[in-house]
Amino acid sequence: MGSTTRSEPLLELKGAWKAYGEGEARVRALDGVDLQVRDGEFVAITGASGSGKSTAVSVLGCLELLSGGEYRIEGIEVQQLDPDVLAALRNERFGFVFQSYNLLSRTSALENVALPLVYAGVSQAERHQRAARALERVGLAGREQARPNQLSGGQQQRVAIARALVNDPAVLLADEPTGNLDSKMGAEVMQLISGLNHELGITVLMVTHDPTCAAWAERQVVFKDGRILRDERKAA
Ligand code: ADP
Ligand code: MG
Repeated sequence: MGSTTRSEPLLELKGAWKAYGEGEARVRALDGVDLQVRDGEFVAITGASGSGKSTAVSVLGCLELLSGGEYRIEGIEVQQLDPDVLAALRNERFGFVFQSYNLLSRTSALENVALPLVYAGVSQAERHQRAARALERVGLAGREQARPNQLSGGQQQRVAIARALVNDPAVLLADEPTGNLDSKMGAEVMQLISGLNHELGITVLMVTHDPTCAAWAERQVVFKDGRILRDERKAA
């Protein structure tokens, strides 16, 4: 992809809408969203349950296409892309973290983290090397052979974050990453995510309903009924 110029946002939604269901059951999960995210930002997405936060993350991460409106990544209109090109773009540019860790339970931390590289066709030696480096980055050096049930919830989420990092994504999309964690483990995960933003320059979009987590971000976008109600930057 071309380099991002100063004037061009990394991610841009314009008049974006997304509908699910048919007839009476039809819902506009996104209902006219304009959003620009610049390279290196850390954005918290908040709002009531059902307001469209997860749908926004799915669309931004190219897991789903819009029903209408525009979505551009570095100026490239996503809606027009061939499905293979779109899948490649998703795998190269985005890392995903969810509330549930989605780890393979009988598989080591190292193999869980290396999994996305299997699909990318990377050799086993390089997979293991890159997975070990990602585990080190999330503070789990020495736990490569641990299985998920030998790790705390916070450690399992850090394995999931390492898996999201292993492709060197430009953007981390996190949907309620601390939702299953107590406040201490949640704070550790937030510290880690914040460090990925500040130290590695990864752009972070994080859905959360926890104001303590949202406070880590420099910008807060509040959704209501599929629209953006507020979009505020923290005072410098
Ligand atoms: P949030 O993450 O803010 O709780 P969602 O984006 O998950 O909100 O959902 C927004 C609206 O879209 C809700 O009314 C939800 O029920 C609906 N919705 C989300 N995903 C689907 C789907 N796959 N099929 C049908 N309706 C959906
Ligand atoms: Mg959600």
